[in-house]
Amino acid sequence: MFKANCLLCNDKTVNQLALCSKCYADLPWNNSRCKVCALPLTEEQKTCPYCANLKFSFNQVFSAFSYIFPIDILVKDFKNNAKFYIGKTLTLCLIDYLRRNNFNYPDILIPVASSNKAMLERGFSQTILIAKIMARHLKIPMLKNALICDKNHAQKQLDALSRKANLANAFRLNGKFNFNNQHIGLIDDVLTTGATADVISHLLLNNGAKYVDVYCIARTTLH
Ligand SMILES: [Zn+2]
Ligand SMILES: [Zn+2]
Repeated sequence: MFKANCLLCNDKTVNQLALCSKCYADLPWNNSRCKVCALPLTEEQKTCPYCANLKFSFNQVFSAFSYIFPIDILVKDFKNNAKFYIGKTLTLCLIDYLRRNNFNYPDILIPVASSNKAMLERGFSQTILIAKIMARHLKIPMLKNALICDKNHAQKQLDALSRKANLANAFRLNGKFNFNNQHIGLIDDVLTTGATADVISHLLLNNGAKYVDVYCIARTTLH
């Protein structure tokens, strides 16, 4: 999982990251963002127009980056080519970002579950890998199997209405676990509309969770 040269410029790396200090600083950190859904905003506004009209079930999204170059390329390389050192670097960046933004430590971490089909195609779960690294560094327990995904179809192929119906039935919770009064950190890789995180947060709240924050590597710049 270790790389001695920067992923982006081949210079010497720093700490446990596969990045040099200059490339690390130049990454598209998501500093100016919607305080609810983390949508990157050009100017300092508290919430985006979308969140002004809609209430998500989660409390707040923390996304380390905007999903733009070079983060989009790095995330795809990590996911599609199982490059775990990239996943580790991106996760360590997320941890840095959370600490810089004074996040409240959650009681437990839960990775967004992938469908069996996605797991078979990819051979691993990117969200479990991210959650594992976070759990180790932040010393927060991670429940790998708390969430079960029964989704059969990729969301991408569906229109908006079918997408919604498909999503609502896609996830269930493992009855073995107790979420009562827990502050939950839900882990995702890339957040787009927030619909998946919303459905899962709703499910967790209905099962006693106190509140849900979402932690992800990157947030797309459009809803
Ligand atoms: Zn570099
Ligand atoms: Zn928003």
